[in-house]
Amino acid sequence: MNFRTTALPLIALTLVVPGVASCTVEATPDGGAGTGGASSGAMGGTPANGGGSGTGGAGIGGSAGSSGGVGGATAGIGGVGVSGAGATAGAGATAGAGAAGGAAGSAMGGTAGSAVAGASGMGVAGSFVGGGAGGGPAVPPLDCGENGVVVENHGPPSNRVNYFIAADGYSEAELTTTLDEHIAVAMGKRFRDPIGQVYLRYRNFVNICVLKLPSPPICGSSIFGCCGDDESRLARCNESDVNAALNENRPESMEIDWRSTVLNGSDWWNTGAALMLWSGGNRDAAGAALHEGGHGFHQLADEYADCRSNWVNNSSNNTDSGGKWNDWIDYDQDPGTGMQGFFGCTGNSAYRPSDNSMMNSLFGDDPDTSFNPVSREKMIMDIWRIVETPWDSVDPPAGAVTSPTALTVNVIDPAVINVEWSVDGAVVAASGGPTYNVGAAGLPPGAHEVTARAYDNAGTDLVRQTTGTQYNRQYWGMNASQTVTWNVTIP
Ligand SMILES: [Zn+2]
Repeated sequence: MNFRTTALPLIALTLVVPGVASCTVEATPDGGAGTGGASSGAMGGTPANGGGSGTGGAGIGGSAGSSGGVGGATAGIGGVGVSGAGATAGAGATAGAGAAGGAAGSAMGGTAGSAVAGASGMGVAGSFVGGGAGGGPAVPPLDCGENGVVVENHGPPSNRVNYFIAADGYSEAELTTTLDEHIAVAMGKRFRDPIGQVYLRYRNFVNICVLKLPSPPICGSSIFGCCGDDESRLARCNESDVNAALNENRPESMEIDWRSTVLNGSDWWNTGAALMLWSGGNRDAAGAALHEGGHGFHQLADEYADCRSNWVNNSSNNTDSGGKWNDWIDYDQDPGTGMQGFFGCTGNSAYRPSDNSMMNSLFGDDPDTSFNPVSREKMIMDIWRIVETPWDSVDPPAGAVTSPTALTVNVIDPAVINVEWSVDGAVVAASGGPTYNVGAAGLPPGAHEVTARAYDNAGTDLVRQTTGTQYNRQYWGMNASQTVTWNVTIP
């Protein structure tokens, strides 16, 4: 989130806003396809995975949050000798004697459970001795501003998507009752598998704040002037007032990447634009928040009605998507939206990738209302446009270092980011976890170049179309996979 990256979406949005604004989204389905009542689910935490299969590593477990994560893998085998390594202790490959990797970091909805990274173990003479991944460093508190409240805190705003929700029409008392319920309902679906994916997988990549200012009811003299109408089904607010309030409230250091307004009402008024709007009290509000975010933050098109747009998830013909989803054809997303291909929109003048999807019908809880793989892939690229490095810090800093005990890459989420370690150009651990216990690795005296390549481990169920610069695909190669290099001297 530096200024370089913000210019891009502004341009894109300028071009696409007409398409968004005319979206008359989301008619209520016939026959009540939606389930009654609000979606369940308070903001439960996802257990963060503990350490990767770090060798050795007497990791200290993270202090668990509400639900403990999975502990790190147990001690692995010793590293393979490399380039004459093991000179001090035979041929290397003595098993790392460390205990289990770090036990679980955990993460709750709001504040992440802190976890102490696993300390390195006592492997002997292998070229790679990993440490337990632990849960990574503790997450410091998130500052959402004077009138802002934390919904999700996952790390430094400088390396996260920062999503700010402004509330309109909630009285002072309702700010801590009705509003909290509306937010909880929206978050419940956002982090539900599979419908909310990929937000569950990338939960640690997005901070969420809500701006709480008391207000008269909507459709009157509310602070942001929000209202709507049943004919267009669009919500409308005074966008400049919302943006001014968000900009005034946010901490200086936080750049807001994603803006929305939740209306205190139950009408079916929602809008997917740069400032996305949804009615928090409707029975399908949580789906609306996801669908409109698909428009507003991800530039995804509607996949109902005639579907015509230039966006990634529809095509003007049914034989070639024009590079939009060529690699997804005949892929069966299960659970999810099923077989991908070309499905005719109304009038067959345009086509969508799947029969149903979140961008087609947002109602209810059927897995086929998930984001289809074409949408999910775009969502991942959008996250990596904002999140500029797979790690938050590197310890010690890259560059020259003498006799380090350990080298650590504090990745955003060890369950999502793998680390490949190399010594002098040879891979010593394809997925070694965030820490390399150099002190115990027995590297021969001299100079060594140690590199750590941290990369998003998304499989081919999530990412396939990665070439070119359309649809933010350039950020997959640019930000989602990066290497840090240390020039290590062993006396
Ligand atoms: Zn829509």
